Amino acid sequence: MIFRMFRLRVLNTIAPVYFFAATTVTFIFYFYFFIPTIFQRPDVSLKVSTVIHSAVFLYLMLNALGNYVMAIKYPAESSHETMIRVCSADCSDKIDAHYLLNGCHFCKLCQKTILRRDHHCFFTGNCIGNRNMRYFIMFCIYTSCTCLYSLVLGVAFLTVEYNISFENPLTFLTLLPFSTGYFFLGVISGMQFFLVLMLYVWLGIGLVCAGFCCQQVLLVARGQTYCQMKQGQLVESHSSWKENLSDVFGSRWALGFVLPMQTVETFPEDTAAKHHKHD
Ligand SMILES: [Zn+2]
Repeated sequence: MIFRMFRLRVLNTIAPVYFFAATTVTFIFYFYFFIPTIFQRPDVSLKVSTVIHSAVFLYLMLNALGNYVMAIKYPAESSHETMIRVCSADCSDKIDAHYLLNGCHFCKLCQKTILRRDHHCFFTGNCIGNRNMRYFIMFCIYTSCTCLYSLVLGVAFLTVEYNISFENPLTFLTLLPFSTGYFFLGVISGMQFFLVLMLYVWLGIGLVCAGFCCQQVLLVARGQTYCQMKQGQLVESHSSWKENLSDVFGSRWALGFVLPMQTVETFPEDTAAKHHKHD
């Protein structure tokens, strides 16, 4: 048990570092390789394309990073000092959290009582609950878009710079094994091999984030949490899906879709406590 907790703590430290490293690498690839190579060629009318692609990329990044910060800035924890930390009869003493008597969870990693806890996100090093779920979902959406957009430009870069054709759909399946072999044989450079690896990282993160986001939106619409789903407590929600969504996304939800802004009111404890009955 101690070893498993230690492993979770290590993961909680490594995941944010991995996130920032991948973000930095994406930035460097984008502005030092993709933009100069793909768009700044004499035969292409560049200025407009460069500006549009850079603006789209920066906008996606701004939203991904902005919502990442917001998910941390508005944590799901309870500020209620007297919150009872007594386990309920249903508490299975899970590795990461205790299920408390008052319907909240005590996260062992965060060392905090979490209101309407959904899950612990290792990339933010923070628990996700009702208060920061909106930012987390938007973070997933924009991270997915940024990764898939980078993937498209990465493919374009390989085509322009190294004459690799992606007309055959099977190219993407054989690219990694061939590139690995060619790299160790010294046929291709480390930079080219690293870019190929990044294509798969972008594809993986892009698809995982998109899938995770869909699952979260469905759970939110049903008024349920991932914690409840894992415990097999798929409780029937008393509110309509519209009420459940507006509860999480806030009154200014449309604004929150286009900019990383605070759209969820910071509920007083009493108001937030009304959700406990659904837990
Ligand atoms: Zn936590």
